[in-house]
Amino acid sequence: MTKLPEQIINAVRSAGVVGAGGAGFPTYVKLQAQVDIVIVNGAECEPLLNSDCAMILQHPDWLVEGLRLAMQTTGAKRGVIALKEYYTDQIDALKKVLPADGAIKLHLLENYYPAGDEFFIVYDVTGKIIPEGGIPLNVGAVVNNVATLMQVYQAANGKPVTERTVTLVGEFNEPKVVTVPIGTTYANLIKIAGGLTRDDVVLLDGGPMMGKIVDDWQEGIAKTTSGVLALPSDHFVVTMRQQTLSQAIKRSKSACCQCFRCSDLCPRNLLGHEIYPHLTMRSIDYNQAEPAKNITSAFLCSQCGVCELIACDSMQLSPRKIYAAYRKELVARGVKNPHIRTNVVANSEIDGRKISTITLLKKTDLAKYDIDINYEGVKTVKKVKISLHKHVGVPAIPNVVLGQKVRMCDIIAASPDDKLGSVYHASIEGKVTDISETLVEITA
Ligand code: SF4
Ligand code: SF4
Repeated sequence: MTKLPEQIINAVRSAGVVGAGGAGFPTYVKLQAQVDIVIVNGAECEPLLNSDCAMILQHPDWLVEGLRLAMQTTGAKRGVIALKEYYTDQIDALKKVLPADGAIKLHLLENYYPAGDEFFIVYDVTGKIIPEGGIPLNVGAVVNNVATLMQVYQAANGKPVTERTVTLVGEFNEPKVVTVPIGTTYANLIKIAGGLTRDDVVLLDGGPMMGKIVDDWQEGIAKTTSGVLALPSDHFVVTMRQQTLSQAIKRSKSACCQCFRCSDLCPRNLLGHEIYPHLTMRSIDYNQAEPAKNITSAFLCSQCGVCELIACDSMQLSPRKIYAAYRKELVARGVKNPHIRTNVVANSEIDGRKISTITLLKKTDLAKYDIDINYEGVKTVKKVKISLHKHVGVPAIPNVVLGQKVRMCDIIAASPDDKLGSVYHASIEGKVTDISETLVEITA
């Protein structure tokens, strides 16, 4: 039976769907916007991750149906699935299930980084540039990633978010793509991937460009986890990620030659936003508080990592880290983003300066991990640790008690109804064996 838009939105909210490819913004909010176009981000932005590709091959119809539901709630007349042009198997699979009415089309992207950045994908698909400090809605678009829209489809069919398809790649004995319960620990993922090839390994939740170092391997994966990358502890990507802020500042003062390369390659600068990392580095080097825009432009940084890992790889300087610190401090001081230009024009060099993913992998010494990885289906685990705050909004509050038996899909925590947040469900059947304000552990 066809559902009304509000029924779909309520189902998505109750199912706990949050943006699976980013910070975990609650999807029910996005689906309430009224837009011209819904774009599926199928770019698999981070190199080495194959989770979205695997899911498309498994369930291309879920993606198309999820997109249709999103178009229905947002009133969008156009739906576009944007994916890389070399994903030929996925393109073939999708073509077989595209609706005949032509409302949903494929858009093929070149293989560059960051093709999956919301700002870039909107520009690539529509030719419109999201204003500084803006969101896709400002140009009549909503962007959702593949996993999110499949979860929208499942939510409309009564299934909450209880699992994630993740890529396990890098220094695992058996790299693979698997579907596991939310809250599966990183330690268990290592077992699922046949162990590690060496002792000195650092895990990143996510890909090499924007993934976060996992400090505690006994923690569980979140709804936003799309993959886990295992790298040697002395790998360039890891050492740059571990560089402290004071090291980044000292290095900048001693080594930044103001070559402009970070600004030349900065994707947001290429889209015409007023962000010039080399000028921000200069402000650090000479302790200049003025012009203030060299500092407040931190609000325009997407943290994509191009400046740190590609532009300045030989000097090993990190404008990204400086911007993250500036932004944190500005927010703490209550400073609002002053950069809100709307008449933004892309740099004429934008096409020539996109970073090919192949070049990126070579420059970052990651090419050896770029291998064909198979999808190996659903894996079960005996324990999950479900974090209740890994989404945008207020944390979810547990509604279970220690020792309580839970069945799969039972609600175990929820943010207050009147607040932005999410709902969490039991991802395995079992007993609650640990509980705190931020975590529910379930043991089978
Ligand atoms: S941070 Fe690196 S790339 Fe940027 S201006 Fe300085 S030396 Fe050049
Ligand atoms: S991380 Fe660097 S390259 Fe990426 S948007 Fe920020 S300043 Fe630009």
